[in-house]
Amino acid sequence: MLYLDNSATTKIDPQVLDAMRPYLEEEYGNPSSKYYSLAENARKAVQIARVQVAQLLGCESDEVIFTSGSTESNNMIIKGVADYYGAKNKHIITSQVEHPSVIESCKYLETKGFIVSYLDVDKFGRTSLSDLMNSAKDKDNLLVSIIWGNNEIGSINPIEEISDACLQQDIPLHTDATQVIGKMKIDLRKLPGIRFLSLSAHKINGPKGVGACIVKKESSTIYTKMTPLLHGGGQENNYRSGTLAVHNIVGLGMAAKLAHERLDQTISKLQKLEIYLKAILTEKMGDQITFNSDVEKKIPGLLNLQFKGINNELLIKKLSNYMALSTGSACSSSKPSHVLSAIGLDLNEIRQTIRITLSPEINSSELDLFKTL
Ligand code: PMP
Repeated sequence: MLYLDNSATTKIDPQVLDAMRPYLEEEYGNPSSKYYSLAENARKAVQIARVQVAQLLGCESDEVIFTSGSTESNNMIIKGVADYYGAKNKHIITSQVEHPSVIESCKYLETKGFIVSYLDVDKFGRTSLSDLMNSAKDKDNLLVSIIWGNNEIGSINPIEEISDACLQQDIPLHTDATQVIGKMKIDLRKLPGIRFLSLSAHKINGPKGVGACIVKKESSTIYTKMTPLLHGGGQENNYRSGTLAVHNIVGLGMAAKLAHERLDQTISKLQKLEIYLKAILTEKMGDQITFNSDVEKKIPGLLNLQFKGINNELLIKKLSNYMALSTGSACSSSKPSHVLSAIGLDLNEIRQTIRITLSPEINSSELDLFKTL
């Protein structure tokens, strides 16, 4: 079975599994306990993972808050910032192509009196800086939340420019970086406008059920203000109480370390595979195929395409013994994609669209399977 749904999730790396195993077996200490070695070992393991995540992103290790994944990080940041500052005329800016965990958090906040602008996007799903700045004009802006790389069509937003503009206007910027982690170089030291970032381990060969949100400090001693997601014992700088899932955190740390070490190699392998696959598909299908993704400024290895006259669900089911493909995001598969609607596709075109997401473990010869279809 050729797995081509790596944006939905990835296979756990054997090195990640090896790193996690002791913390599911003999090293079962609670990192918040004190004085004995089991607790100390767990605490040290969590700290190493925190540094590994920070090194991947170019931030401080105490800016890494472990969560259960990006859905939680997105909810925590958007609702936490909103709750802290309160609703009076507060404006939140986001886009129409965000992950449901961002859009639904914003919709919830609208019911509490916040004003939310959902910006239109271009035909590749990108937010324009000028639209963003126009939307911010003369408003009491609380937060901007813009996805870094889109999970359905793979387009990458101009986050550097958005970060600069948000910094100048003094509006905190949150970015959902779930799909770009390990696929492009990220250095938050060069992007001071980004105050919050979300990521998830299972998209980078780590375990499911763990991720992080990066909460940039306002100064070396002052933490960014946000209502905690979970009140309790004060773990994770008080933002998210609860006993830490040490095994999962260690897994995320190792996945981040490997993603960092392999970054250049991953990007170049994915680009090569993508070129190879595109050539096969173009040769085979001619003008029956349309690529919805941009060729530049996109997540390597993610292709979103239409097979004209072919129903996507029927195609995916028909091929399901040989390969795993997707109609788009695994998070909203029951409804027609809001992302594809936002880039201007009609229902018929959406029903002909599939997403292929490659992984660097694939051999180009495995993609020859497409020649035989
Ligand atoms: N944001 C994006 C862009 C995603 O692709 C996903 C996963 N599909 C999420 C958020 C949610 O991540 P998690 O599965 O860790 O909750």
